[in-house]
Amino acid sequence: MAHMTYDLIIIGGGPAGSAAAVYASRKRLQTLFITAEWGGQSVVSEQIFNWIGTASLSGNELAQNFKKHVTANAGAGQTLEVKEGEKVTAIETAPKALSDSALGAVFSVKTESGGEFLTKNILIATGSGRRKLEAKNADKLEHKGLTYCASCDGPLFADMDVVVIGGGNAGFESASQLLAYCKSVMLLHRSDTFRADEVTVEKVLKNPKMQAIKNVDILEVKGDKFVEGIVYKDKATGKETELKVSGIFVEIGQIPNTDFAKSIVPLDEYGRIKINPLNQKTETVGIWAAGDCTDVLYHQNNIAAGDAVRALEDIYLAIHAK
Ligand SMILES: Cc1cc2nc3c(=O)[nH]c(=O)nc-3n(C[C@H](O)[C@H](O)[C@H](O)COP(=O)(O)OP(=O)(O)OC[C@H]3O[C@@H](n4cnc5c(N)ncnc54)[C@H](O)[C@@H]3O)c2cc1C
Repeated sequence: MAHMTYDLIIIGGGPAGSAAAVYASRKRLQTLFITAEWGGQSVVSEQIFNWIGTASLSGNELAQNFKKHVTANAGAGQTLEVKEGEKVTAIETAPKALSDSALGAVFSVKTESGGEFLTKNILIATGSGRRKLEAKNADKLEHKGLTYCASCDGPLFADMDVVVIGGGNAGFESASQLLAYCKSVMLLHRSDTFRADEVTVEKVLKNPKMQAIKNVDILEVKGDKFVEGIVYKDKATGKETELKVSGIFVEIGQIPNTDFAKSIVPLDEYGRIKINPLNQKTETVGIWAAGDCTDVLYHQNNIAAGDAVRALEDIYLAIHAK
């Protein structure tokens, strides 16, 4: 059992959690930072062009920079402790005996390796993972022409024929970005109505380089070393068609990493943590959340970092107002 209580536990080492850790240390909050991995979702990107202050860097460099920046503010003489390679499995309300004792613990955070840590406040910054395309060969050709990020990888497909999978706003927004570089964009959607806003659908479909087909199942991604095509089935007729394409952009939704928190903070219908966008507070007093694990509309590295900084300002105020 833990023998001390932190002011704050930050969970997640993507842009949100890393930014929060630096701020927490600068504010001298007694903080424990726990992350499964460094860098977050864009660690897989070959190049990131929009991380402010750096014209271009790889996802791996971004992760290394986060680690360097956070650990430079941790260790001897600092108030920040870092636990990497650790996964949080549960957050519980601390037993009454502990909250009533000198420890004054409010929450207990448990990790996969059996660790248990007491804290007064928590910032959840565990991000999300993309819903993966389930089709033959999709796994094998991921990052080899099959990608989950048009704004990151779109320019690599200049003058090529590409497919977007997904008929929601993310699918149509990806198609809109790709139309700026690609020779043609074909959007494939599984149902017979698009979920994206009508205005967006109309605007995107007006482009002469754009086509869309509804009511299809994706069966297979073709290619050996790189994507060469895609096979889909028309659900009404059963007819199978193969399209020759060089790129496949999948936008079929995200799955927030919030399972471990669902019994302590309210989630929305998609499993995202509901927050007040003014201060990042969840509906549970003492717990804040930031970045892609929350119900914010836009998902970018800079946004996640900024959200987390906003949370830290509010956490600091809450601690010092007590
Ligand atoms: C392929 C791809 C490329 C992208 N490229 C760009 C780009 O070029 N520019 C841009 O601005 N945005 C890009 N994005 C979007 C951007 O990556 C996200 O918006 C951003 O990473 C969200 O940051 P986050 O800190 O909220 O969460 P994440 O980046 O998802 O980080 C979550 C962190 O929490 C950790 N974690 C998760 N669960 C647990 C747990 N239970 N216990 C402990 N730790 C846990 C993870 O290991 C990870 O370190 C891209 C996204 C993808 C998928």
